[in-house]
Amino acid sequence: MNELLSQLVTLQAIDLEIDQIDNAIKSEQNGLDERMSALAEREALINELQEKVTALQKESRTLESEMADKMDHVRERQSKMMQVQTGREQTALLKEIEDAKKSAKENEEKIMAIMEAVEKLTAQMEEEKNLLKGEKQLVTEETEKVRANIEAINKGKKKKDTTRSDQASKIKKSLLRKYDTLRQHRNGLAVINVVDGVCQGCFMSIPPQRFNMLLKGDEIFECPTCQRLNYYIPPTEEEN
Ligand SMILES: [Zn+2]
Repeated sequence: MNELLSQLVTLQAIDLEIDQIDNAIKSEQNGLDERMSALAEREALINELQEKVTALQKESRTLESEMADKMDHVRERQSKMMQVQTGREQTALLKEIEDAKKSAKENEEKIMAIMEAVEKLTAQMEEEKNLLKGEKQLVTEETEKVRANIEAINKGKKKKDTTRSDQASKIKKSLLRKYDTLRQHRNGLAVINVVDGVCQGCFMSIPPQRFNMLLKGDEIFECPTCQRLNYYIPPTEEEN
């Protein structure tokens, strides 16, 4: 194989390993991020429940004070009863008292319903708080583990990075730039084998004449379809 190509093939093998390391770090981090956002969601739910409870309690206090006013009104009207003379006045007062009592009763029913709702919401909130506590504990442990994992992975990556720069320093700058650009735009693969005249990067055939020249291994050829740099390693060798 062409010497320059062979250097690139070695470099790409290192780069692919580094890609794997980066992916491993990313997936460790992603797993933790997912857990964190689940925590945040549960916290938001608990806050929402708390807000509902607070609003209901406020409504209940308003209803209670209204109810007290209505009962005061009933008592005041009842004492007025002693002073009225005519049957018509009496009937009117009695109706007023009945209406106020009925209205106070309605308040009482609403307050009872609110108390029931508050009880349910509070129970739900307690349950969510317990779940949150357990999850927080887990995430704390998980965070430690992930941090240690990433640290270990990073140690391995540092070694690889050094190997990578050593290898890259052997390669002509312009060729290296081309290689880096290709890797960026061609899914991490800049140099690629050709098997039976088919580029293994894009799986398109390359012209037979060019394939014959490639077999000689003297020159660097770009794939006419994907522009990756083609090399040729016979299948048996590749399996090793
Ligand atoms: Zn191709």
